[in-house]
Amino acid sequence: MDYTVIIGLEVHVQLQTRTKLFCGCSTRFNPDHPNTQTCPVCLGLPGALPVLNREAFHLGMKTGLAINCEIPSFTKWDRKQYYYPDLPKAYQISQYDLPMSQNGWLEIEIDPETRETKKVGIIRAHLEEDAGKNSHDESGRGQDSKVDLNRCGTPLIEIVSEPDLRSAQEARKYLEELKLLLTYIDVSDCNMQEGSLRCDANVNLHIHQEDGKTIPTPIVEVKNLNSFRGVEQAIEFEVKRQWETWQESGLSLHDVPKETRGWDADRGITLEQRGKEEAADYRYFPDPDLAPVTVTDAERERVSGELCERPALRRGRLEKDYQLSVYDAAVIIDQGLAFADYFERVAAGCQNGKQAANWVTQDVLRELKEGGLEISAFSIKPEVLAALLEKVERSEITTKSARTVFQELLKSDQSDPGVESIQSIIEDKGLAMVTDTGDLEAAVQAVVAKNEKAVADFQGGKQAAVGALIGQVMREVKGADPKVVRELLIEKMS
Ligand SMILES: [Zn+2]
Repeated sequence: MDYTVIIGLEVHVQLQTRTKLFCGCSTRFNPDHPNTQTCPVCLGLPGALPVLNREAFHLGMKTGLAINCEIPSFTKWDRKQYYYPDLPKAYQISQYDLPMSQNGWLEIEIDPETRETKKVGIIRAHLEEDAGKNSHDESGRGQDSKVDLNRCGTPLIEIVSEPDLRSAQEARKYLEELKLLLTYIDVSDCNMQEGSLRCDANVNLHIHQEDGKTIPTPIVEVKNLNSFRGVEQAIEFEVKRQWETWQESGLSLHDVPKETRGWDADRGITLEQRGKEEAADYRYFPDPDLAPVTVTDAERERVSGELCERPALRRGRLEKDYQLSVYDAAVIIDQGLAFADYFERVAAGCQNGKQAANWVTQDVLRELKEGGLEISAFSIKPEVLAALLEKVERSEITTKSARTVFQELLKSDQSDPGVESIQSIIEDKGLAMVTDTGDLEAAVQAVVAKNEKAVADFQGGKQAAVGALIGQVMREVKGADPKVVRELLIEKMS
């Protein structure tokens, strides 16, 4: 007997508008000043009327199109009723039967070895407003509960996948790819610590029996996962728990109602929360305060035209255009849009994609990480790095000298050192490659004369003996090309 894991994800993403979905309050993350970003609309005071934020709808369309959804011509708003302290209106404005986008997909790579990919279906993506935040005193001393309504009314897009994912690793991969895509198209910062990207996972097992029948276990929704690791661990835990529960109880999908569980990251377990409401429990009905939205073909086309090259396509293009390894292309793309743009400007400028990739993914990335910097704030502009690498390419300086110049550029007082700084550093430090082989040959001659033992070793077949001699020559003649030195040494000793 065996089983298949069935996972569908519901992802809530905060759209990066300045103001809330139906009022002019700020959406800034501001937990230190609770209840300062509210108004009669998002507090749900009597007589207040919501007005749709056009930018939120626009970002919603961008998202829908980027995940290959249809954008219907007509969409409307519905009230989802439930009572909770963080929802003063006692209903959430959402979309029920006519979402603003549907029937899409997102492609993920499921095997880095074979590069096998998989299209994960997307049932729908709809807009809705966020609720506030409750916090409870869990010290055990008091019973102090607080409500912060700053978040109330913040625009969210909820992206609901088909149950197409088959493992915790696939679910993580899907989330990572989705996050990357949404930051590329600039609809959300997807900051998981601040709650800009949250995920609920629907998990169950299809148990294959010896007679060929398949029995589905009850579906469990694990709520509010806010890290990639949390998603992966919670699903792994659920798979194990459901398998054990099934073996004990034998209860299948239709024997029990859908269950909601919460992920306790500290203990690494899911805990039962409540029976899951069905749609009927929410008594959805169209919101009478808001006009439906119609979308024309021209608008769809315009928004479609605003989308940049998607990360998956760009990854493939970098491999092809610059002969990059799969790994290098992935590292570059994963750093985000601005970083990928930086790389392409360096690669185009020095006309050696592989070398540009080495520098950008190692030297530049290390500096950014150490300094806690974004690429936009990096002091060496892509044109300057390209000019430096071109000098290596033309054998004007060695790679080692280029690293010295790179460090000098970083130390430069100028916030934005230009291409001309490279030449002056090379001159100041005497880094120019020695092309006059006269000097070099004299130095090689002298070193060979001084090192009888090494020469004998080499002549006896010890190739490694050359290494020590190269170092000695390089100390004599600064800026010599080590490749040339090696050749000259071998020539002299052979
Ligand atoms: Zn408001």
